[in-house]
Amino acid sequence: MTTAIHIGRFKMTWLLGGVFPFTADFMPAVASAQGQHNFAAAGLPIEGPSFEPFHAFAIEWDNHLWLLDAGPGLEEGPDRGEVLNELRTLGHEPEDVDAIVITHLHKDHTGGLLTAEGKALYPNATLYVGETEMAFWTNPDQVPAGNQRDHEVALLMQAHYQGRIEVLADDAVIRPGIRFVPLPGHSPGHNGVMLEDGDARLLMWSDLMHSAAQQFNNPEWSVVVDLDPERAIETRLALLERLAEEDTLVAGSHTQGVGKVRRHASAYKLVPAEGGVFEHSE
Ligand SMILES: [Zn+2]
Repeated sequence: MTTAIHIGRFKMTWLLGGVFPFTADFMPAVASAQGQHNFAAAGLPIEGPSFEPFHAFAIEWDNHLWLLDAGPGLEEGPDRGEVLNELRTLGHEPEDVDAIVITHLHKDHTGGLLTAEGKALYPNATLYVGETEMAFWTNPDQVPAGNQRDHEVALLMQAHYQGRIEVLADDAVIRPGIRFVPLPGHSPGHNGVMLEDGDARLLMWSDLMHSAAQQFNNPEWSVVVDLDPERAIETRLALLERLAEEDTLVAGSHTQGVGKVRRHASAYKLVPAEGGVFEHSE
C-alpha cells in the first residue's frame, strides 16, 4: 500500500525504503526530561525509540516519471532496500524513470541508485544534483572521516551515471514547477525540492528533521549526522517560521505524513493535510 497526493498536475507517491529506530544515539538531547516528554506526548515510551522512515518519492505528471532521491538501497542494511519494490507496486520498472532529483549525497538517499553489484539501477534516468553538494562529496580532501561510505557511493554514482548527471545551481529551477530550495547545514549543499502548480505547493524538505516527535517541539535540537549543526538549526528555525505563515504543504525523507506547519505553544506542529491525500493498493 502506498500513499500519494496531488499537487496540481503532479502526483507524488511516498516510497518507503524501511525504518530506523530513533533514540538518544541520534540526538543526545532526547535523553533530557523535555525529550522524554516529547516521546510520551507522541504516545511512545519515554526513552523512545520512535521509528522513522527512509523515504524516496515518485513524481508523475503527463507521461513523466521522476524520483526525489533513491532511498538507501542496501546501504543501510537489507531491511531498508524496499524503494524499488514500492516503485513496482505502482506498476513501474527502473527503466521507466526519466530523472532523479538528488537532495543531498548521503548514502541513505543515494544508495538506491545502485544495484547490489554497485552499478546504475536506473538505465534511462538523468540525475539532477546541486553544485555545492556534488563538489563537496566527490572531493576526498573535504569529506569527513566518518562519512567515507557516503563519499564512496557518491563516486560510484559519478562513475556509473557518467554523462547523465546534470550539476545545477543550488537554487535551480529544474523544470517549470520543480525547483531546489537550499536548506544547508545537514550537509553543505543540502536541498529541499519544491513542487508547485498554480496555488498548490509542496516542499519536500528532505533531512530538515529526523524525528517529527522531537523536532517540531524542539527545532533547536540537531542530530549527530548534521555536518554543521549550528547552520542546520538556523536553517530549520528560519524555514519553520516562514512556513507557519504559508499554505505550503511539507513532507520529509525521515518524517511521516504531509501537512502544513503551524505555531504551537512556543514551537511548531504539523497540521495534517485534509483531503487530497489518498492511499491505494495495487
Ligand atoms: Zn537522510
